[in-house]
Amino acid sequence: MTAKTMEELVALCKRRGFIFQSNEIYGGLQGLYDYGPLGIELKNNLKKAWWSSMVYERDDVEGIDASILTHPKVLKQSGHEDTFSDPLVDCRDCKSRWRADHLKEGKCPSCQSDNLTDPRPFNLMFKTSVGPIDDGNSFAYLRPETAQQIFVNFKNVLDSTPHHLPFGIAQIGKAFRNEITPRNFIFRVREFEQMELEFFVEEGTDEHWHKLWTDLRLQWWFEQGVNKENIEILNVPSDELAHYSKATIDIMYRFPHGLEELEGIANRTDFDLGSHSKGQSELNITANVTKNKSSNSKLAVQNRETKEWKIPYVIEPSAGVDRGVLALLNEAYKVEKLENGKERTVLAFKPHLAPIKAAVIPLKRNNEQLVKLAADLKSLLQKKKLGRVVVENSGNIGKSYRRHDEIGTPLCITIDFETIENNTATIRNRDTMQQHRLKLENIPEFFAANIEAN
Ligand code: ATP
Repeated sequence: MTAKTMEELVALCKRRGFIFQSNEIYGGLQGLYDYGPLGIELKNNLKKAWWSSMVYERDDVEGIDASILTHPKVLKQSGHEDTFSDPLVDCRDCKSRWRADHLKEGKCPSCQSDNLTDPRPFNLMFKTSVGPIDDGNSFAYLRPETAQQIFVNFKNVLDSTPHHLPFGIAQIGKAFRNEITPRNFIFRVREFEQMELEFFVEEGTDEHWHKLWTDLRLQWWFEQGVNKENIEILNVPSDELAHYSKATIDIMYRFPHGLEELEGIANRTDFDLGSHSKGQSELNITANVTKNKSSNSKLAVQNRETKEWKIPYVIEPSAGVDRGVLALLNEAYKVEKLENGKERTVLAFKPHLAPIKAAVIPLKRNNEQLVKLAADLKSLLQKKKLGRVVVENSGNIGKSYRRHDEIGTPLCITIDFETIENNTATIRNRDTMQQHRLKLENIPEFFAANIEAN
């Protein structure tokens, strides 16, 4: 069973320290959220899992981390300056503003009036000035997608690594869009993170790779704990494709507020590298031409057999980190009826995603002997480097179990007076709630085996 409402998730996230409204003490800023002590762990674990599958577990992908501030020319060439907009309408009656394609029956969602202006394009990019003199000319954009910085680094990576086509460049980082109506918690925000792979291939093999990447990405989401029944695949209709795309497949997820895009896998053809090649030629830029002096296209690659220079095609799986976090919270959230008639809330994360891997709990608060044993065991478990382990010195074992169920900690280990006598501790499993005793010396191995297992 997944979460019943978005409100339940939002409340749990605030109560337990996953996600907070940003700038809250000054009334908040719309469309921005902050990740708290548990949220950052969950988000980092998700990003780690993505990076591992994209970079470490493959031999044809390299990673980069490029700047957020982006040269206007990059976003001119990419088409974003001219076309990266949503249709904006004003309600003449209540003065609110909306995205035309999100309206129901052409009515203002706020006052139900149909007295609306005609839609006009609203560019979603944030601009900022660069340097000490704000003369209107020295500006940069906050990148609206991480992809463009991959394209402009394409030759740098190709020339500094041993790769040939097909190969990919992966990046995780912030992107910014001045969304007209940010909403649905962290689903649609103005500052978010993307996990993007640009996978460069020969023209003609692009459709094969597009299908392959769609299958790989679906499989990966299932491995993170996303239920197949909550996923639908959407072949984006041709009249809705982004300006750079020949074909896009959206992985749609049943969020608490409805079925919406979790990740898009686009066939961007040679559009971006082609445009940046043209951009460089126009400016007569000579950087990055070491390998392809014989080509007019500065970002072309030579086929090793035919010796022909050609701009590669690119397949792009682009996933939102924040939408991923929301989907995983939704999947993990359960309210269970217990035998004693009470309820418990559990976040049943896969162990590799759980913000805290184990809580070591001394039975009696501030009891020196018990706390020392707990701290020593925590250090041993922490040395396994599988993620965060905490000592929970609350003195209320029932309350500690409830808290750790609710934040998704897979294992609780209780140190009690028997531990002092015979060196054993009680291990409680989050999902089954079953408990058993284990020798302290065997706990690190047991812990590693349980947390490493997906
Ligand atoms: P939508 O149609 O929902 O606005 P999009 O098609 O504009 O999304 P893309 O440009 O394909 O989104 O971006 C790739 C991914 O980045 C999306 O699948 C999504 O996970 C994430 N993303 C895009 N915009 C936002 C946003 N405003 N807030 C959070 N995540 C976003």
